[in-house]
Amino acid sequence: MLISSLCFIPFFHFHPIFMIVSLFLYFLPAFLARKRSDFTAILALNLLAGWTFIGWIIALVWALSSGQQRQVAVTAQPAAPPQAISGTGFFCSACGKSCEAGARFCSSCGAAVPATSR
Ligand SMILES: [Zn+2]
Repeated sequence: MLISSLCFIPFFHFHPIFMIVSLFLYFLPAFLARKRSDFTAILALNLLAGWTFIGWIIALVWALSSGQQRQVAVTAQPAAPPQAISGTGFFCSACGKSCEAGARFCSSCGAAVPATSR
């Protein structure tokens, strides 16, 4: 009988474990792309075109290609270099701002600069 011979071969394919394995293999591209930003697109391709072998291959290649997420690298702006103190200036003991070398009084607060700092 033709029907009995047809029923015999698909029996293996309806085995639960085989079903699970084949389902996993079918959704392997989507599984590989689960952490990608374009996961939904790959899943859609996997779902809609996965039953065609070429669609499944495309989804798999897509999932594997450029695996890293296209993160826009937020380049930390380099900290501005500390302003070089001109000449042999020093810091005022009263206000803490830099004063010109040799100045008797602080240019910021006017405090008398100690002779040792000059
Ligand atoms: Zn000062």
